[in-house]
Amino acid sequence: MKKLCLLLAACLMSLAAPQPGLAQQNKSGIERLYVLYCGDIALNDASSFTPGASGPGALSVTCYLVKHAQGWLLWDTGLPDAIVNMPDGQKSPAGVWTSRKTLASQLAELGLKSSDIRYLALSHQHGDHVGNLDLFPQSTLLVQKAEYEWVPPVGGRRFKPEQPVIKAEGDYDVFGDGSVVLISTPGHTPGHQCLLVRLPKTGALLFSGDAVHTKANWDSHRVPQRNLNVPQSLASLDRMAAVLKENNGQLWIAHEPSEVPQRKYAPDYYE
Ligand SMILES: [Zn+2]
Repeated sequence: MKKLCLLLAACLMSLAAPQPGLAQQNKSGIERLYVLYCGDIALNDASSFTPGASGPGALSVTCYLVKHAQGWLLWDTGLPDAIVNMPDGQKSPAGVWTSRKTLASQLAELGLKSSDIRYLALSHQHGDHVGNLDLFPQSTLLVQKAEYEWVPPVGGRRFKPEQPVIKAEGDYDVFGDGSVVLISTPGHTPGHQCLLVRLPKTGALLFSGDAVHTKANWDSHRVPQRNLNVPQSLASLDRMAAVLKENNGQLWIAHEPSEVPQRKYAPDYYE
């Protein structure tokens, strides 16, 4: 009987004790995540991004918008909105870019102006990720210092010195509550980064940027040879796998077309 009482007391105490994981979650200011359509890419040769593939291919382009108590954060800006008005799309070195809906119109549907976006977090400087950078001159850029200082051989430098910027050197907890964290994943470009978002109901999501282009690449742990630094890219895949494991998270690959029908797009959202 005495043993049972002790056991019961221990159980009650453990129920009353604060659970660190939950306590941290309660303090988190993250509210919602919106998935935004940011264009389509038709590839002349699928193997240029997915080694081993053959024939023409397609990549989706996806951006993500986070609503946090401390402000809105947009992750990547997709293809330029002007492409919506080009019936044949815009030629790129690897294929053709098209778009059927602007980023600005999707923000407007949510009642937002581009000046409402406090933070503009960018995976890297390639054109299909920074196409609408000019829409957000007031937003504070969140990029890796190595990316900010790099001048890409194609397209040149994208960042304007007058734009406010936080130059991260490695991982960076944007709101200080662990809900939105830049994860340094160099290799595709010198300062490439992913974004870890911890949502109260959905759980942890890791946005790939171009650290991973397709699910086939992720599944077979490979990267395109066009990446700036292949060994560094492969090490970044290992880092991502560790982050996913630590957070019991899901990897969302922005360029993977098979993910498109699986997602709820804005104005629907994830909590
Ligand atoms: Zn890229």
